[in-house]
Formats: sequence, C-alpha cells, structure tokens
Amino acid sequence: MAADTPRPPGISSGELSRVLAAFESIVGIPNVCRSGAALAAYRDPFAPLPGDDTFAPSAAVLPANVDEIRALLRVANAARVPLWTVSTGRNFAYGGAAPRLSGSVVLDLQRLNRVLDVDERLAWALVEPGVSYFDLYAHLRERGLALWVDPPASGWGSVIGNTLERGFGYTEYGDHAAAQCGMEVVLANGDVVRTGMGALDIGTAWTLYRPGYGPSFDALFTQSNYGIVTKMGLWLMPAPDAYVIGEIQFAHEDDLGVLVDTLRGLQLSGTIRQHAVIEGAIRRAAGLAPRARWYDGEGAMPEASVARMQRELDIGRWNLHYALYGDAEVIELQRRIVERAFAKVPGVRFTARRYAGKDEPQGGGDRNMAGIPSMSAFRMLDWLGDDGAHVDFSPLCPADGRDALRQYALVKARAAEYGFDYYGGFTAAGRYLHHVFAAIFPRAPHPQAARAGDLLRALMSDARAAGYGVYRSHLLYMDYAAAQYSFNDGALLRLAETVKDALDPQGVLSPGKQGVWPQAWRTQRGYT
Ligand code: ADP
Repeated sequence: MAADTPRPPGISSGELSRVLAAFESIVGIPNVCRSGAALAAYRDPFAPLPGDDTFAPSAAVLPANVDEIRALLRVANAARVPLWTVSTGRNFAYGGAAPRLSGSVVLDLQRLNRVLDVDERLAWALVEPGVSYFDLYAHLRERGLALWVDPPASGWGSVIGNTLERGFGYTEYGDHAAAQCGMEVVLANGDVVRTGMGALDIGTAWTLYRPGYGPSFDALFTQSNYGIVTKMGLWLMPAPDAYVIGEIQFAHEDDLGVLVDTLRGLQLSGTIRQHAVIEGAIRRAAGLAPRARWYDGEGAMPEASVARMQRELDIGRWNLHYALYGDAEVIELQRRIVERAFAKVPGVRFTARRYAGKDEPQGGGDRNMAGIPSMSAFRMLDWLGDDGAHVDFSPLCPADGRDALRQYALVKARAAEYGFDYYGGFTAAGRYLHHVFAAIFPRAPHPQAARAGDLLRALMSDARAAGYGVYRSHLLYMDYAAAQYSFNDGALLRLAETVKDALDPQGVLSPGKQGVWPQAWRTQRGYT
C-alpha cells in the first residue's frame, strides 16, 4: 500500500492493507479498487478544491449481493474502517461518489442491478441500488408495460440513490421520497430488515402500503447513514392517454412574484398536479447557445447582455414549463384554465404541445416531463463552453411570490459579487419550491473553482439569516448546513447522533453524512 494513500484517521497502512485483503477474499480481487484510474473515479469530479485530499477514498469495494455486504460489515466493524455507501455514485454537484471522511472505503452497490419485479396493474417496481433511471425505463419499454418512470435531470443516476437523497423529477410522481414504498436495509450490525408490510414473511403489500404496523422507518434511511438500502419499492405513473406540455414566457424580472403566486393557486387546486419548472433566462438559454455569443468578459453577465440574449433567443426572463396528463378533453380544458390564470401578466406568451400517450417528445425538458430519462442537467456545462463543472446551492423556498423574489435577489447579488451568473430556477411542488442555483466554473485548479466553494458558503449563511435552509448540501458544507438547523441548541442533530450511536456503535457507516457523526469520529466534524 503506497504511503501517501489516504487512510481513515487512526488506521495504520498495515491495518488498512489487511482489511482490503479481507475484502478481496469476500468479493474477489477485481472488485476492490485500490489505486489508479479505477479509484480516481471515486473522487468528486466537480471538486471546488484542486487536488485536495479532504474527500479522498482509500479504496472502493463492489459487492455482488447482500451476503457479501454482511461479510464486509463484519470486517469493517472489527477493524473500525468506515464505509461510504453509494448506489451508482452520480451525485454530481454534491460530491459525486466521494466520501465525507477522507480514507473511507467507498461501498459501491452498482453490481446489485436487478429490476426485481414490476406490477403493471398496481403500478410499482422493486429495484436494487445499481438500477439507473435509464435501466428502469429500458426495462419497462422492453416488456411493453404502460408505466412511466419519473426521471431526475440526469437519467444515469440510481433510482435508489436519488430517492434516498430526496431528489425530484417533473411528472406527477416528482417527489421521489413520497413515491417510495418499502425497503430492505442492511444495518451496521449485519441485520437485514424489511420495512412496513415487507416484514410479513409471505408479504403481499410491501410496495403498496408504506406504514405497515407499528413505528414506520422508511424515512429514517433517507439522507442518513443508518443503513445500507439493498432493495426499494417505488410507485410508477400509469401511462396517460394524452398529455400537454406547455411553456409560458414572462418578460420581466419581477414577474417571478406573480408567476409563483398564480402557480401556487393552480397547484393547490389540483389543476397542475406535476412538478412545474421555472427557469431563469440563463438556464433556459443553456443548450441553445453558448454564453460567449453575448458576453465573454470577466464577472457575471451584464444586464444588457442578458436582455439581448433574451431577445435574440426569443425566450422569457422567466420561463414556466408545466405538464397536464390524462384524458385529452380534460387536459385541454385545464390548459385553458392555466393560460387564463396567467393572461393577467403583461407581455406573457404561451405555447403548448399536445401529445398522445405513446408519443415521444424530442427536446430534453419535454422528454423528462414525458417520463423519458435524459441527460438534460448536463446542458449547463455547455454554457461556459469548456471543461465545466458546477456546485449547487439549493434552498427550500415557500411557494410565495415575496419569498421567491427575495431569494432570487439575494442569490443573484451574491453570485455577481463572486463573479457568477445567476444560473438558476425553481421546481414548484404546491406549498414549496426547490430553488436550485448552480455556480458553474472551469474545473479546478482554475481560481473560479475555489470562488464557487466560497460563494456556496456565503449563500448558505445569507439564506439562514433570512430564515431559509438548504435541502441538500455538497460534502464541503454538510456540517455547516447541519449546524444551521440549530433550534434548542441543536436538538435535531443531537437526536440524529443518538440514533446513529445506537444503530452503528463502531461508526462504520458513512461517518459525517449530512453532518451526522458517530461517537468514534465526532472530532472530525468541521465547519470549513
Ligand atoms: P445517484 O448516482 O443516483 O446520484 P448516489 O449513488 O451517488 O446516487 O447516492 C447519493 C447518496 O445517497 C450517496 O452519497 C449516499 O449517501 C446515499 N446512498 C446511495 N445509495 C445508498 C444505499 N443503497 N444505501 C444507503 N445510502 C445510499
């Protein structure tokens, strides 16, 4: 083992070598990555810090099944070597597959990649961690099943990974954690638990009724380090007879307020039942043309260039993308209700595309709303036109026009101060919006990369002062974000760590994830 290989604190290179040899005897030598390009793939591809070892794994191990996972846990517990679980490790912009605690061994579950079952009548699937949205979509297509997946912006990620991180998509099943039903989890002590109705030996409703009997645990395993999820049920959307995908363009920056207030009414009344997307002009423009066509200088794009771009590309300053699914006559009526509600906004422009259930739209955004996975998130990397990367700031926003305008003004001003465009938008889910701002930069060691990290931290502190919190965080700021949820001297984190210590006394599962540290590693907490 090379002397400079990252190791977990307090573990000698001899101990680590013995652990990795034991891992090799469980999963086979080719399924342990110890160095080189294979191991480099487990570093954060979009790291804001150049060549940094803060989040560097010592190795990666790829088990094939639950028994191997249990055997790995026995070794890890005995040696107190931490494992960082990923399903496919595509958590780009938040750290990729890299671990929070340097020297952890990445437990990569991509070889557990079976779609175990799909029921067309009751509209659910049961999958393993290595199944991506592309895989599940292909499986449904191959079998000719009239069911849709709800893809997030990048279809290559794992269904389980995205759901556990509480990711979201764009159809009526856009709240992924809410569409989850039933889990199989391996605990740190090797015990295998099936949640809810799955605990019945001959189960019939594991994937139908989440609560089961007694305390309900599924939510405990989302954004947490309490277990290794090896199977998960999810509800799928029955393919609709027809759908409409509409775009509404708003001319002015401050139209965001009326847009959000009107949309909230339409979502709470049930007229729009999916996750509608509000894109700022720059995010809308990405993928249509590169930034350099309007501005190639230092700092954020000036207002005059944004206005020129908006005119030349014929896009709105804000662009609302929504979808209606169901019977063709009903959705036509709903479309009219939607357009009537927004017609009061001066300068508003409407387009709507009508599809039969089996049609396949071509554009990436429309495809996502039609349940077809794409890689639309990556169009943001074309914006700068070189080897780009991004980190995301994702504050939760009340679905109130005043809050949306306030968050937007705050983020835009702070981003400009650090030399970044406002590349952002909101995903609307009724009572709340997911506000996502991407700080896009040329890859480290470019100085703008480090500035992106600094900007993220400044934004989190601004947001907190205004009463907002993030729903997810990059590895860099997991502790900082957790500390912001500080009611009663941090009672929430105290509870999380009490549970952590009860379930994982040796602290082997993903230490530091979401700011939750086991007793053994608590001194590693850092607010950076
Ligand atoms: P994706 O590839 O879908 O983006 P990842 O595999 O990167 O998702 O997982 C995102 C995060 O979710 C991981 O960093 C990890 O903390 C958590 N996670 C992923 N899969 C599991 C799992 N099977 N069990 C427990 N936690 C998981």
